[in-house]
Amino acid sequence: MIRINENYLKLKATYLFSEIAKRVSSFQKAHPEQAVIKLGIGDVTRALPQVCIEAFHQAIDEMAQDSTFKGYGPEQGYPFLREAVAVNDFISRGADISPDEIFISDGAKCDTANIQELFAHDTVIAIPDPVYPVYLDTNVMAGRTGSFVSGRYDNIIYLDSTRDNGYIPDLPKVKVDLIYLCFPNNPTGATITRDLLAKWVDYARDNNALILFDAAYEAFIRDETLPHSIYEIPGARDVAIEFRSFSKTAGFTGTRCAYTVVPSSCMACDSSGQKHSLHNFWNRRQTTKFNGVSYPVQVSAAAIYTDKGTVQVASLIDYYLKNAAHIREKINALGYESVGGVNSPYVWVNTNTDSWEFFDLLLNKAGVVCTPGAGFGTCGQGYVRISAFNTFEQVQEAMSRITQALKR
Ligand code: PLP
Repeated sequence: MIRINENYLKLKATYLFSEIAKRVSSFQKAHPEQAVIKLGIGDVTRALPQVCIEAFHQAIDEMAQDSTFKGYGPEQGYPFLREAVAVNDFISRGADISPDEIFISDGAKCDTANIQELFAHDTVIAIPDPVYPVYLDTNVMAGRTGSFVSGRYDNIIYLDSTRDNGYIPDLPKVKVDLIYLCFPNNPTGATITRDLLAKWVDYARDNNALILFDAAYEAFIRDETLPHSIYEIPGARDVAIEFRSFSKTAGFTGTRCAYTVVPSSCMACDSSGQKHSLHNFWNRRQTTKFNGVSYPVQVSAAAIYTDKGTVQVASLIDYYLKNAAHIREKINALGYESVGGVNSPYVWVNTNTDSWEFFDLLLNKAGVVCTPGAGFGTCGQGYVRISAFNTFEQVQEAMSRITQALKR
């Protein structure tokens, strides 16, 4: 009989969001009169910016005429979008990235998941804890980890993000080859300074390592001293791949558009020590396994870089940042420590108790859904993530209910 990939058996069940859904549903059955407010899942709630809608319509009209119809596009993305990305997201910030180093895709989830295919089976991998689970699970599926024991996989170097280190992991004590970093962070909302990011770049350069830098929440950075891209750090283009997404920037979670930057100077070696271009490898991977993002979606994404688009995106992000500031203010006023909620849509709350107990408390006493931090890794135990993705009115109502319920 056909055999399965047994690495899948090592995966921890996708317990987090199904367990949340189960608890919410039983609460709703018991309290049908109570409207539950969801500040749990990291999905946006506001409509696409108007410029994106108009561009989308116009591109659909082009698809309706033989003379302007588009079939398969370039697997790497249309030049108009790759150029807009390079100029606006990198060159304007002094980062030396060219359009042909940008690969347009249908999501940072698939790119951060697929990138591990390029690396050897015995690559030593460092992954933050707590973490966006995709980095870890895709390496489990690929067989790079041992089994799951006491909340952690063997063969992974975990980078703890805790109160003690200000939620920015310390450099690994052992030599690693591949490092996943995500800033602004999901789930903690923490951001990294230029100096600290430079330390990681130096580490990678000194150890012939590679950094996979997930900047899906870059658009939330308002503090201009913080780096938006790892390529703002000198030397990073030789040792880092960066992932970006239009999902949180412009409400594209259901529309799907993202990109990955693989600089032509990023190299990795084979078993004989000969160097190979990761750019060429990723290009080979994408042209074999991916057929590009639809033309209307790319036209719509490119619209965010117009003058009007820049203003509309800023106002979209401002809306969520106002929610985040409100959550942070109210939770801190209750005496809880938190990180994030500034330059980030997530507030990471130190509950001083068990994550799930605190989750149940908010659900049962306030009818508010958050995400238990323990679901993101062992260092998340004792924390919950509260997300700013909802209407301001709902966020106000949720925080007022939480304040009533938790007033000490
Ligand atoms: N990276 C991080 C850190 C995320 O939190 C998410 C989505 O929540 C993604 C990537 C996925 O982005 P996309 O919608 O582009 O697949």
